[in-house]
Amino acid sequence: MRTLHLLPSLACVAGLTLTATSLFAGVGYTNTPMLGKWHIHDPDRPMAPVVTPGENFSLGASAPADAVVLFDGKDLSKWISDKGEPKWKLADGYMEAVKGGGDVQTKQEFGDCQIHLEWAEPPPQGDSQGRGNSGVFLMGRYELQVLDCYSNITYADGQCGGIYGQRPPRVNACKPPGQWQSYDLVFEVPRWDAEGKLVKPAYLTVFQNGLLLHNRQELVGNTPHQQLPKYTPHPPTGPLRLQDHGNPIRFRNIWVRPIGEAQ
Ligand code: MG
Repeated sequence: MRTLHLLPSLACVAGLTLTATSLFAGVGYTNTPMLGKWHIHDPDRPMAPVVTPGENFSLGASAPADAVVLFDGKDLSKWISDKGEPKWKLADGYMEAVKGGGDVQTKQEFGDCQIHLEWAEPPPQGDSQGRGNSGVFLMGRYELQVLDCYSNITYADGQCGGIYGQRPPRVNACKPPGQWQSYDLVFEVPRWDAEGKLVKPAYLTVFQNGLLLHNRQELVGNTPHQQLPKYTPHPPTGPLRLQDHGNPIRFRNIWVRPIGEAQ
């Protein structure tokens, strides 16, 4: 399995083009709309090359004094689900997605913000989008993908760390299932004028396990499956949402720093 994980980086070194199609026919879509030069979830779009991360970047980072602690491993009091109280499992310092339990989201809403969170993938089961799938939805709308891509081929704009359906990460920084991983990100909300015209898109900067995945990357809209992204005006704040995609992903140590305009 480790060999498979290394294939993209080896291909990169060798100057070869490795695509999802070349290894796994049918993991992407060729009949979806074009976004730039690629179809949405295009199986021919190269996956990001593997870069093995360092050991412990930001893992266990305690919350700064001005952060809002959303989950410290003790309770789910800051979270709700569409069905009321969260149905996710709470155990031993983490929360775990429960199949059919639905997404969970914060009661508090945020605008521009810095976010730290940690997650761990379950033992490998299934493949492509069926392996260790969850997601971090900024404002409940814009998905930063969570997926087990340690030894898993999928379409590039849906790989771990991708802005789903829009932008693959710069590198595949995934650790093996079972190991804790970190996301540190900065999100700038989109803004509209009084007539509903977009005056500033959303921007996302992401580090996974200390490796830069996106550097103030512009989002071109929301992050639907098989459809073109589009912007729909919404309030300037929204919740942080974690996805139940049917796989038991664990999350811990989640905190947010709301950020204002730079002085
Ligand atoms: Mg997902």
